[in-house]
Amino acid sequence: MKFHSAQQGELAIRSLEVVWHPCTQMARAQKTPPLPIARGEGPWLFDTQGRRYFDANSSWWVNLFGHAHPDLNAAIKAQLDTLPHVMLAGCTHEPAVRLAERLSARTGGALGHVFFASDGASAVEIALKQSFHSWRNQGQTLRREFVCLKNGYHGETIGALAVTDVAIFRDAYDPLLMHAHIVESPDSRLNNEDAAFSALRSLLDERGEHIAAVIVEPLVQGAAGMVMHSPEYLRKVRALTRQHGVHLIADEIAVGCGRTGTFFAWEQVDTAQWPDFVTLSKGITGGTLPLSLVLTTEAVYRAFWSDDVSRGFLHSHSYTGNALACAAANAVLDRFDAGQIQANRVQASALSEAFAVLSEHPRVKNFRQRGMILAFDVTDSGDRFSERFHLAARHHELLIRPIGSTVYLMPPYVINQAAADFLAHAVGVTLNEVLHHAA
Ligand SMILES: *Cc1c(COP(=O)(O)O)cnc(C)c1O
Repeated sequence: MKFHSAQQGELAIRSLEVVWHPCTQMARAQKTPPLPIARGEGPWLFDTQGRRYFDANSSWWVNLFGHAHPDLNAAIKAQLDTLPHVMLAGCTHEPAVRLAERLSARTGGALGHVFFASDGASAVEIALKQSFHSWRNQGQTLRREFVCLKNGYHGETIGALAVTDVAIFRDAYDPLLMHAHIVESPDSRLNNEDAAFSALRSLLDERGEHIAAVIVEPLVQGAAGMVMHSPEYLRKVRALTRQHGVHLIADEIAVGCGRTGTFFAWEQVDTAQWPDFVTLSKGITGGTLPLSLVLTTEAVYRAFWSDDVSRGFLHSHSYTGNALACAAANAVLDRFDAGQIQANRVQASALSEAFAVLSEHPRVKNFRQRGMILAFDVTDSGDRFSERFHLAARHHELLIRPIGSTVYLMPPYVINQAAADFLAHAVGVTLNEVLHHAA
């Protein structure tokens, strides 16, 4: 094993002994051990040797304002001394109520009811269950099928995985999963939005009355490799699902919280026609604590309203609406109230300017950007490109994990022109190195 030092090696070895790492083939991790991180400050992570790495993917897309942000930390510390947690059945607390009020207000009240959980996948499970159960409560017992998009990703739990179309995550569990309809997804690289929409329309024409909901990642399919489509496609999907009386779930776990240029990605689609469900997680606490939530409509909420307990939504998680996490989320919303979206616009153009040269690189194609997501595909990238790129980048103070041969940046919202230039330079140098060694 190759380690920078005994100390680094020690922590990595101890980790491999006892920690089962996520999304990792542990046999392979023996050769490429985890980076032992000691602390974070702003966009930088520092390893146990004091080497620094720019967190270019925001630690799996969760970190919005850099690590150990003083405002977020202060909010969490204040809440910690007041009330860290209380169960949300039979009790309530200010941070959860205030967060729900503020998020609902950001939809103009269209999505006025908020159900809390802890991880993104749980929020997806909740939206699926609420959709199905609300139809059932209304006597529409036929509606129990779901539709998702090709290459879409909605999480790893059994229900969420059933509406996920990423073979490497899904295939082993296929026998356990409920059936879902997978339809062609719009992909700006393929110019196929009309065909993708027609496929969905044909399915709803044929099976419409059996469908509970269609689930989409609005504007950018993240785990698919930052696959982008237009707001127009989503506008048509909203109209179509309405026409068939089918719910629409917008999974904004990755694209929400300002990532695509508006607080909700859906704001770029139509602020008069919201989806029936919106899920949030990842960035909602700025990368500090696990929290997820589902926003839904009065109509869905009313479908559960009854004297009969079993018609209620009895779902729960122990940490539902955790007060520390809600306090962190309120601190995140404070920053959006104070003009974060405008700041993101400036940062997004700094990124496009910095990457302009690299976008002309002969091995770079499909250069694309939406807000604070920038991606490109590498041609003839060779075997294990993602792993090789990730390891090479570490030597250029960059922490980045491509998806297949797609290199993407999803940095914290702290990018000035100098940081953008640093990123473009580090990515460019890494790319040339990796391509050179593959040849
Ligand atoms: C990450 C992600 C999820 C799952 O969230 P977890 O917190 O990892 O369970 C669901 N949907 C989308 C679009 C995501 O990007």
